[in-house]
Amino acid sequence: MGVAIVGSGLAGFTAYQTLRRGGLEPDEIAVFGTEADPAAAWRRRAEAIRQREMRSESDGHCLATSFPGLAVRAALRRRSPRPLVGSLLDRYHPTVEDFLRHVEELRERSGWERSVRRARVERVRAADGGFELDGHGLFRHVLLAPGHPGLNVPEELRDDPRAVHAYEPHDYDTSVTVVGAGLAAATEWLNALAAGAEVVSVRRREPVRRPLNVPREYFSRRGLEPFHRLGADERVARLRTLLAPSYPPGRQFDVPLARAELEGRFRVESSVNGTHQVICATGFLRGFRHDPLLAALVDEHALATAGEWIVLDDDATVPELSDATRTLALAGVPAQWAFPAADTLVGAKYVAHAFLRRIRACRTR
Ligand SMILES: Cc1cc2nc3c(=O)[nH]c(=O)nc-3n(C[C@H](O)[C@H](O)[C@H](O)COP(=O)(O)OP(=O)(O)OC[C@H]3O[C@@H](n4cnc5c(N)ncnc54)[C@H](O)[C@@H]3O)c2cc1C
Repeated sequence: MGVAIVGSGLAGFTAYQTLRRGGLEPDEIAVFGTEADPAAAWRRRAEAIRQREMRSESDGHCLATSFPGLAVRAALRRRSPRPLVGSLLDRYHPTVEDFLRHVEELRERSGWERSVRRARVERVRAADGGFELDGHGLFRHVLLAPGHPGLNVPEELRDDPRAVHAYEPHDYDTSVTVVGAGLAAATEWLNALAAGAEVVSVRRREPVRRPLNVPREYFSRRGLEPFHRLGADERVARLRTLLAPSYPPGRQFDVPLARAELEGRFRVESSVNGTHQVICATGFLRGFRHDPLLAALVDEHALATAGEWIVLDDDATVPELSDATRTLALAGVPAQWAFPAADTLVGAKYVAHAFLRRIRACRTR
C-alpha cells in the first residue's frame, strides 16, 4: 500500500476526502487513528465549551473543494438565500450541528471505515522507498496529523482543586475565574454569566479581536507568499504574534459583557483570587516536543526545527525526508510553519491538496 495518514481526526479526515476525490480508493489509503469517528476529539472540546456556531465560515468543511460550501447546503435545506447573502458578507457561520451532520454524511459515503485501522503509531522511520510505521508496513507517502499534544494548564493551577480545563466537561459554580483571552475564554465568560455566575477574567494580555483565528490574508496565496519568504527567526516571531489568543468582534460578546460589568458580575483581574471555580481556557500544549511521535521523528532523523516548530517546505512536507519518490508531510497544528492557520479546516485542505499533488507527481514519473 502506498499512502498512510496517521491521525484520524478532522485534519486526517479532510486529507482523506481530498485523496478520494483525487482518485485514490479506500484500499489504497491506510488511516491510523485512535478513534473511528473523525469528529470525536473535536466534538468533546466543542461540547465542553458549549459551542453552537463555528468560528469558520462557509468553507470550514471537510470536502476537497472550498465551493460549494456549507452556506450553499444550508440555503438549499432551508430554502432561503440568507446563508448565501451572509456568506458574501463574511458573516455566515455554520452551526456546530450542521457541521457535524456534514462530517457524518461524508464519513458514511467516502469509504472512511474501510481505511481506518484502530492503532496509535509510535514511530515513523524513513526506509528505502518510504516510511515504516511501527510494524504496519512500508508506505511511500505519509501524512502525519496527530492533532494537539495535550491540554495546557498553567503551572500554578495544576494542583488547584478548583481548576478545570475549558475543554473538559464541567458545569459552572456561583463564582468563576476564567483564565485566558481566546475564543474559548470568551465563550466561557458568556456561559458562566448565563448560568448566573459572577465572572472574573484573568488574562496576561488584552485579547485581540478578529473574526478568524489568524488574519484573513493568511488564508490566501497572496498573503502566504511574504510569510513563506521570512527567515527562520522572523517566522518564529511572526507565528507567535499570529497565534496569540483572539476572539471575534461583535455584539454577541460585547453586549452581555457590558451589561454584566454594569451589574458588577464581570470584571478583569491580573491574577487568580478566591472564586469557587477556575476554568483554564488556556488552550493546548504547544510544540512538537510534547508529541512523542514528532519528538522521536525529529531526534531520529536530525530534522531542522525552529522554536517549537518542525521546519517544513511551503507545501507542509518535511524537506529532509521528501523527494521525487516519497513524501512525509504534516497536517493540522504541526503544519503551522507552512500555513499559520493549519489548525483549521481550511488549513487542513491546504495541506491535503499539496499532499495529493506530491502523490500524483510521483505516480506520473
Ligand atoms: C473547541 C474548538 C473549536 C474549533 N472551531 C473551529 C472552527 O469553527 N473552524 C475551524 O476551521 N477550526 C476550528 N477548530 C480547529 C480545528 O478544526 C481543530 O483543532 C481540528 O480538530 C484539528 O484536527 P486534527 O485532526 O489536527 O486534530 P484532532 O481532531 O485532535 O485529531 C487528531 C487525532 O489523531 C489521533 N492521534 C494522535 N497521535 C496519534 C498517533 N501517534 N497515532 C494514531 N493516532 C494519533 C488523536 O488521538 C486524534 O484522534 C476548533 C478547535 C477547537 C478545539
